[in-house]
Amino acid sequence: MARDYYKILGVGRDATNEEIKKAFRLIARSTHPDAKPGNPEAESRFREAAEAYEVLSDPDRRRRYDRGDTIDLSDLFSGFGGFDDLLRSVFGDGSLFGSGPSGRPTRGGDILVGAEVDLAGAAFGTEVEIQFRTRKTCEVCSGSGAKDGEGVTTCPECRGAGSVRMARRSLFGTMMTVGTCPTCHGEGALITTPCPACSGSGAVEGDATMTVEVPAGVSSGTRLRLTGRGQSGGRHGPPGDLYVEVHVSPDPRFERHDADLVHGVTIGISQASLGTRVSIPLIEGGETDLDIPAGTQPGAVFRMSGLGITRLGRGTRGDLHVVVTVSVPTDLTHEEEDLLGQWADLRGERTDRPASAG
Ligand SMILES: [Zn+2]
Ligand SMILES: [Zn+2]
Repeated sequence: MARDYYKILGVGRDATNEEIKKAFRLIARSTHPDAKPGNPEAESRFREAAEAYEVLSDPDRRRRYDRGDTIDLSDLFSGFGGFDDLLRSVFGDGSLFGSGPSGRPTRGGDILVGAEVDLAGAAFGTEVEIQFRTRKTCEVCSGSGAKDGEGVTTCPECRGAGSVRMARRSLFGTMMTVGTCPTCHGEGALITTPCPACSGSGAVEGDATMTVEVPAGVSSGTRLRLTGRGQSGGRHGPPGDLYVEVHVSPDPRFERHDADLVHGVTIGISQASLGTRVSIPLIEGGETDLDIPAGTQPGAVFRMSGLGITRLGRGTRGDLHVVVTVSVPTDLTHEEEDLLGQWADLRGERTDRPASAG
């Protein structure tokens, strides 16, 4: 987790809890989706700040973060009821802009789940199965929150319209305005007998399993957004979103640099001098031959075009770079020493070979 949470919130590393809360409140007011609907930039800034706040506001998590430990965010986000609960804890009742008491349809919480893929999966795309806790639409009442479809009655105040005319007195006299019905919060109906399974909320907590399509080219930290696959909003509320944060497990055969891969081979000094053919593993499976020409120097790099990782959102692939290490033997037999000695003599190279061996 390379994110600098302090920088995201704009506070110093020695900031107090109160300063952290204040900083998050400021950012949330201007970036929350309710304030800036349909503004993905503001939304991602909001989510980033929410994540930073969740980590830094908890003394234990903050200590671990300061130490450089990885904070398991999937755990963190499934543990609390999503962003709505977070806002409730920071703003009191969850309403940022005084938009009235809760009870109106609320959007379901967002969920962040981690998913592990191997390097080949990241190179070509794959499917992963994820499991997480979530709030699902109650099956007993189909999300209505009312028992057996009977425990519901038309709102007497607005007679089902969801809106009421209200008289407002001002300096200029009495004005009639139309507003959301305060009794049913615009739903037009009231629950008289709540569904026993969900206590009238329309949603219940449960485990979910989902197969997620991971596109080619992802890296560790890539977040996939599955719109509407988050927590159920309960009665009439739209569902939240599901975020899947990918972690790419390392492959000991390759080092990854964005779309390029690096693979190391070790050859002997005679192979480097005379040339050889080596077998190179491929990320798609199998192997391919690579000719190492005579006179190859230690550290030489051979580029195998188009055998790297697929670039995210594009079809093209990076390259595979083969780095050659030349290994000098340390376990020569007497016969090998003799032969190398003769070779050194031919080249006029002075060696420290004991005279007795020659
Ligand atoms: Zn129910
Ligand atoms: Zn009403």
